[in-house]
Amino acid sequence: MEPVKTDIRAITAESLQKLIMDNGWPRYRYDQVAEWIWKKQKTAFSEIKNIPKDLREFLALHFEFLPVLIDKIQTSKDGTIKSRMKLHDDHLVESVLIPVVKDNRYTVCVSSQVGCSLSCSFCATGQMKRMRNLTAAEIYDQIVLVNEQALSSYNHRLTNIVYMGMGEPLLNYNNVLRSVELISSEQGLGMSPKRITVSTVGIAKMIRKLADDQVKFNLALSLHAADDAKRSSIMPINDQNNLESLMEAISYFHTSTKNRISFEYIAFDNFNDSIEDARNLVNLCRKFPVRVNIIEYNTISGVEFEKSKVDRLDTFAKYLRDRGVTVTIRKSRGKDIDAACGQLANQG
Ligand code: SF4
Repeated sequence: MEPVKTDIRAITAESLQKLIMDNGWPRYRYDQVAEWIWKKQKTAFSEIKNIPKDLREFLALHFEFLPVLIDKIQTSKDGTIKSRMKLHDDHLVESVLIPVVKDNRYTVCVSSQVGCSLSCSFCATGQMKRMRNLTAAEIYDQIVLVNEQALSSYNHRLTNIVYMGMGEPLLNYNNVLRSVELISSEQGLGMSPKRITVSTVGIAKMIRKLADDQVKFNLALSLHAADDAKRSSIMPINDQNNLESLMEAISYFHTSTKNRISFEYIAFDNFNDSIEDARNLVNLCRKFPVRVNIIEYNTISGVEFEKSKVDRLDTFAKYLRDRGVTVTIRKSRGKDIDAACGQLANQG
């Protein structure tokens, strides 16, 4: 009977190295295999060239590859490319390439879970059940595939990675950290962790864990409301992780790591875009160095929110700027495609 095969990219580097050495091959053979798997991104044992045939056969007997495949692509007039990715068990997730050609910035937004358990009321992904976590390799594959899109469409490599797609990255903690390690290591894509931002809706104890683990990437908090009552009404996670506990955890993260911190703030018309909301937001910005990214809302069906009117948004941003807060307004990208996170993966 054939042995049950394991996904070769799901076992730890230590286990694979030990297995190769225990079966009589020298250590450097592991290094070669790891290079083919991660840096050269091969997904078939027959493509691994410079290792002995018996090692190739041994690996093929015990392991398999479970690569992510592009299932559907939508390209926006503004250059945004949204891809629906199919996982080996037919689950679907989304990855988005957001080019800003004039700034030479090519950002990929990746998913970390299939669906999401957190039910934020404004989010298309929140309407789907959480099915499972993505493996580190599945996160890595999204970046590799979108990097190929960036090269073929714009002749430019990715410059930035944001974990802001489907799912809550800190609820898939180990695989997210392993994927960052792969992206930033020389054995993987060799990208600086300073180019990587992990975005969370705010789980205080996991933010403290990031600090204790001395991560090197940037942290973004999806804030969206600067007082507890409003925030809890759109993000149930705020009931167990109120703003005070989150600000304490982020202060701890800042003190321990000095990594960059940002607040993401989707502006909803007449919900969180008043001067009083801006005043509350300024107070939160005094706790540690932070920049605010105000995001234009993409309307989704079944949700009552509308995006803020331009003049209200400008007044809101001016109030923050006048008080020394660094603010960027991010226009919605991909308006002519299914731009909101989760919309494409949720389609038949
Ligand atoms: S905003 Fe993020 S955490 Fe909230 S439901 Fe959507 S994917 Fe989940």
